[in-house]
Amino acid sequence: MNLTIDPEICTGCGSCEDTCPYEAIEVVDGLAVTNESCTLCGACVEVCPVEAITLPPKTAESQPDTGDYKGVWVFCEQRRGQLHSVGLELLGKGRELADQLGNELVAVIFGHNLDGMTPDLVRHGADKVLSVSDPALEHFTDDVYGQVLSSLIKEKKPEIVLCGATALGRSFFPGVAAMVGTGLTADCTELAIDPKNNQLLQTRPAFGGNIMATIVCPHHRPQMATVRPKVMRKPKPREDRGEIVDLRLPQGVEALSRVVDSIEETSQSALLAEAEIIVTAGRGIQDPKNLDLIRDLAELLGGAVGATRGVVDSGWIPYAHQVGQTGRTVSPKLYVAIGVSGAVQHVVGMQSSQVIVAVNNDPEASIFDVATYGLVGDLFEVVPAMIQRLKSAQGLG
Ligand code: FAD
Repeated sequence: MNLTIDPEICTGCGSCEDTCPYEAIEVVDGLAVTNESCTLCGACVEVCPVEAITLPPKTAESQPDTGDYKGVWVFCEQRRGQLHSVGLELLGKGRELADQLGNELVAVIFGHNLDGMTPDLVRHGADKVLSVSDPALEHFTDDVYGQVLSSLIKEKKPEIVLCGATALGRSFFPGVAAMVGTGLTADCTELAIDPKNNQLLQTRPAFGGNIMATIVCPHHRPQMATVRPKVMRKPKPREDRGEIVDLRLPQGVEALSRVVDSIEETSQSALLAEAEIIVTAGRGIQDPKNLDLIRDLAELLGGAVGATRGVVDSGWIPYAHQVGQTGRTVSPKLYVAIGVSGAVQHVVGMQSSQVIVAVNNDPEASIFDVATYGLVGDLFEVVPAMIQRLKSAQGLG
């Protein structure tokens, strides 16, 4: 179906041509005409000063009945019998969304021999667990996980489906969105329900982190989003009162690939993601040799060493230490930012830390906007004092 351009009204002013993001409309002989690149986005309709352009009417096919879709699903990843914490974190947010919508919260888990893990999903808020246990799901593959999840979505029609933006989630979840014919917002930092129309408001950094964009999916269901680990808080476990439903592998699932071997990640970035205390170095440390101060403080606190991209890009420390939008997202109990300015791309990766301590000699530094405790001062005076105090407290001198 195409746009309708009324030749009697069109003045050939070119506003539509200038506005179209797809170069799908141009003025020929004083009249706007479209080409095959048109996506019916409607940008030209809005700018036409004489209202000469109209979108085709929405048919039942182009506007599925979103009312048929109910419930909030969280895909809960597990590897080798261990639940990934992001699934539990998303159950906390999923619980809020489901309560607001007045619908049930469903945890979905795939693998083989899952019985040891499913009660934990109920304890973390799920009203129901859909558990698909089969030898074909023992090792993750995009194709099998994708086929199973899309088949369940088509059958049961959830309104919202969330998944962790982990290596596994990033690998198969976009394919699921394509298979069920809907959109997907990746790496959301906030999810909420719009009280006006019950749509999922999916907020994420855009344009290099310079703005936060809130994205909606008004015409298709389910509404699908991924969230990085540690962005949401894990809920406190509650009493066990959900239902666990064991499902069989849907018919017709076909494996296109086979796992031959897998190697466990043991790098620093894995340590950083799990650390309860992180001491992060920013460019304020001025020289790589000053990283020793940060390492000493981290060691005394029993924590890991993080870094801003500024420090990583200077070649002072490997990328595995980077915290932020293009590094790790972390949520430790204590985050100590030393000589860190607090750029938005850094802050999105650490703002959900429980306590944030910032040391910076610029009282206007943005890091103080998110800090629980801010110390305005020269890090070369403050950090040695901290080290000295910790050493004394620990009887080390
Ligand atoms: P600076 O901004 O240079 O800040 C240094 C701070 O140290 C200043 O606030 C200064 O007042 C303070 N200081 C200096 N001397 C002292 C002293 N003696 N005592 C106390 N304080 C002192 N950044 C990330 O960190 N992680 C990311 O994942 C990330 N991803 C990005 C993605 C994109 C697409 C883009 C465009 C940027 C990204 N950035 C990221 C970069 C980000 O915008 C900032 O440039 C970076 O975080 C700045 O690092 P910094 O705070 O170490 O350095």
